[in-house]
Amino acid sequence: MAPDLECVSLTKRFDGMTAVDDVSFSVAPGSFFSILGPSGCGKTTIMRMIAGFLDPSAGDIRIKGRSVLNVPPNKRPVNMVFQHLALFPMMNVADNIGYGLRRAGLPKAEIARKVDEALERIGLPGIGARRVDELSGGQKQRVAIARCMVLEPDVLLLDEPLGALDLKLREHMKIELKKLQAEFDTTFVYITHDQSEALVMSDQVAVMNRGRFEQVGTARDLYYRPETAFVAGFVGDSNRWPGRVERIEGETLALRTDDGMLMLGATHGRALSVGDRVQMFVRPEAIRVARDAAELARFDNRIEGTVTSLLFNGAASRILVRHATGGGEIEVALPQSGEFADLGEGDRIVVGWSGAQGNCFPATGQDGAPDAERSDA
Ligand code: ATP
Repeated sequence: MAPDLECVSLTKRFDGMTAVDDVSFSVAPGSFFSILGPSGCGKTTIMRMIAGFLDPSAGDIRIKGRSVLNVPPNKRPVNMVFQHLALFPMMNVADNIGYGLRRAGLPKAEIARKVDEALERIGLPGIGARRVDELSGGQKQRVAIARCMVLEPDVLLLDEPLGALDLKLREHMKIELKKLQAEFDTTFVYITHDQSEALVMSDQVAVMNRGRFEQVGTARDLYYRPETAFVAGFVGDSNRWPGRVERIEGETLALRTDDGMLMLGATHGRALSVGDRVQMFVRPEAIRVARDAAELARFDNRIEGTVTSLLFNGAASRILVRHATGGGEIEVALPQSGEFADLGEGDRIVVGWSGAQGNCFPATGQDGAPDAERSDA
């Protein structure tokens, strides 16, 4: 079966700068695909090309195997939900949902039937007569999606649709959106700069940076098997140590960090040589804590230090530890056993992790950190 959406070498140049640079991907029917990246990386530009609001400079866009480059936006089998939902505030819910069907000239009875069915599916039966400005933020979201879904698009594009909601509602709507996608069994393409949205909802996530896709994979792939320094730094939290390779033996390397520490890490098959500049990433939860160095004897990397901050967050509590000899702080997840519940700032502590947990990448000059607003014009 042809993918619902396929972009082939999609490129968009605005005078002097390339906003989308040779991006290729395909989205399987009925799946939830997210494009995740920092502000200005080119996400919206991709969406606008798919919707037909912007012509690509090069490349092709195919929906169900057919190129849509010469198809005007209103004839493309795609629909778009925006951050500001663009519902008509003076119309009631039913008229909002039925708007596109009326424009398409469907008979009144059929519109009413489709609107009722959509209200059922979004879990809001019987509210057709309510004014949209009387609805909660979450209800408006669902109405905006229903308004698109009654038109039965092959692909629904969602441009940061949760951006305007408060945090609590956003958490709730993540789960709701995933359920709605399954309910309508339609391909969703979702763009966001919020990794927790992308990771929770998506079957596949593309991490985008500076106009290019760095990696496409499941949330687990991106978190546990990042392929680039940018992905390792952007998805989830990590300690990051820049430095230089001092020794390599098989997959194990010794890194002299810029703040003078010697740490063991792993190449994970990447071509690295002695003398190369690299960045090592270690997840806070990969680091163990003990009061006595002997308890961590099994680890290649052990650091004695002082607790500088306690970041209490229930089960996800963390501490920051400063090395006895200086250097930056190390972020460490506390075990959930509660064994370190009485730890205080200033306490002496030992942290340790195995070399295999130190994921090393060649330094790219981008430091694996999210870009600020781009300005390569
Ligand atoms: P955000 O999350 O902030 O919306 P984004 O990832 O969606 O960012 P885009 O809006 O696609 O990013 O923009 C990508 C780059 O292209 C930016 O540097 C932007 O300034 C530039 N750009 C976008 N539209 C135009 C335009 N019409 N003319 C010139 N440059 C543009």
